[in-house]
Amino acid sequence: MLTNDQLAQWDRENFFHPSTHLAQHARGETPTRVITGGSGVYIEDRDGKKMLDGFAGLYCVNVGYGRSEIADAIAAQAKELAYYHAYVGHGTEASIKLSKMVLERAPENMSKVYFGLGGSDANETNIKLVWYYNNVLGRPEKKKIISRWRGYHGSGLMTGSLTGLELFHKKFDLPLAQVIHTEAPYYYRRPDLAQSEEDFVAYCVSELEALIEREGADTIAAFIGEPVLGTGGIVPPPAGYWKAIQSVLKKHDILLIADEVVTGFGRLGSMMGTTHYGIEADIITIAKGLTSAYAPLSGSIVSDGVWKVLEQGTDELGPIGHGWTYSAHPIGAAAGVANLELIDTLGLVGNAKEIGAYFNKALQDALGGHANVGDVRGEGLLAAVEFVADKDGRTFFDPAKKVGPSIATALLGEGVIARAMPQGDILGFAPPLCLTREEADAIVGATVKAVESVLGA
Ligand code: PLP
Repeated sequence: MLTNDQLAQWDRENFFHPSTHLAQHARGETPTRVITGGSGVYIEDRDGKKMLDGFAGLYCVNVGYGRSEIADAIAAQAKELAYYHAYVGHGTEASIKLSKMVLERAPENMSKVYFGLGGSDANETNIKLVWYYNNVLGRPEKKKIISRWRGYHGSGLMTGSLTGLELFHKKFDLPLAQVIHTEAPYYYRRPDLAQSEEDFVAYCVSELEALIEREGADTIAAFIGEPVLGTGGIVPPPAGYWKAIQSVLKKHDILLIADEVVTGFGRLGSMMGTTHYGIEADIITIAKGLTSAYAPLSGSIVSDGVWKVLEQGTDELGPIGHGWTYSAHPIGAAAGVANLELIDTLGLVGNAKEIGAYFNKALQDALGGHANVGDVRGEGLLAAVEFVADKDGRTFFDPAKKVGPSIATALLGEGVIARAMPQGDILGFAPPLCLTREEADAIVGATVKAVESVLGA
């Protein structure tokens, strides 16, 4: 077996890691972490260190680690038929069964699901579908996409543009010209502290209306948003936000793409985030929770209305010019079927609701009174703690102090993984949906210690 030193050297010399400080890592200034196993909410590294994964990988291992039901389904599929494509009407029992299972869990107006590999490619698909849709309808000018600042929709050319975080644009020549951004529904950071939630929703609506007015509704194809902002800071929307935004979009005939890569399949304590907030989407993006990351798979669920126009397009033009070699890959599909069955058998949607409420309250009780905790927020099994230099003024810490990352590092020292979110000093939690009360208590207890070690009691 290779020694840890040997692996670390090979890693530095050969491996281009995503979302990593490349220079520091190549110089050996940041550690190589080799993860070897996992069970339930815990993972273990090569040194035998066991950690409670309070972020379920990248909010994706929703059923928890080490589920043999999914591993067995993957193995059985690989032995029977590891691959065949899904072009021109081909499929496998797994891909056909999974599409039915997805539609049974989606809102009623949804019609079909197209399978991809990850959230980024699913959102790329969505934008192509929206453009195709408007071309078929004879509206070639109606192409711009509205996204929100702090939204996260992937890191491809189009999806990196949709993502409203500076780090994903800088030096990449993004965003592309077809993408325009509007206000994030981030009540804690509202422009005027005197605003009630209702006032703030009215403000978000007026900003959206002004953007549509400036650009012209006949140039705007769609609005994309996560039911709860995820990577941008884990921010649930203010009450009434989605209803108000949706009525503006309807008025201007702008499609709504709900990006449920994080919220789909139970994370909020409801099967889907769209139903949780009464969102009537035209397209829904799914990924992570679809297979709990046991194999890569994503999906674009399209509504009856969009589907009809896509059918009309192929009647006019022939087969749709869109598809990946690995669309509906049988191994991903088999993982998806076993995963969705397991979510039902284990009652994980209900657990996310119950334990999520318990966890969010416990975090609030334990940390809400701390002088540097500005906000504790969450929904279901998503939660965030936002740190500020001054509570009354809501002032940011100097980013050079790296308060968020330091707390995440201290927390790791306590054996718990949480994520320092990329913009602001925000510690995010998204544990597997099988979390118990005792495990929730362990996360909260360790977080208090980590916060106090960095910021004092
Ligand atoms: N959409 C949302 C809401 C996400 O959170 C992510 C990833 O975190 C993506 C899209 C992109 O998914 P992927 O990283 O699988 O490409």
